[in-house]
Formats: sequence, structure tokens, C-alpha cells
Amino acid sequence: MSKESPTIVKCPQCGIPVVWGDVSPYRPFCSKKCQLIDLGEWADEEKRIAGAPDMSDSDGWSEDQ
Ligand SMILES: [Zn+2]
Repeated sequence: MSKESPTIVKCPQCGIPVVWGDVSPYRPFCSKKCQLIDLGEWADEEKRIAGAPDMSDSDGWSEDQ
């Protein structure tokens, strides 16, 4: 009777239900991954990963353009 239904929030990134409590350390996100995505840290990594091979290939590519 004293049990209250837990507050559920939706992960802002992927939209899955997340329990608002100690079980969800990354709330309102479902996971650290979604939290990082929201912080934009993944974007920096994506740029770095995409930029590195792109630079070595850019010679052949730019000639086509
Ligand atoms: Zn998520």
C-alpha cells in the first residue's frame, strides 16, 4: 500500500521509458550513450573519425569534383 508507482520519463534520445530513480544513474537518459549523444560529445568523435580517412582520400575525391 505504501508503494508508489515509479515516475517514468522518456529518454530524450531514443524515447524508451526510464525509471526516474537510483536505478537510472543517467536519467533522464536510458544510458550513458544517450547522455553523451545529447551532450554532443559523440559529434566530436564522429567528426574525428570521419575526418581522418577523408583527408587521405580527399585528393582523389576532389579531382572528381
Ligand atoms: Zn536512450
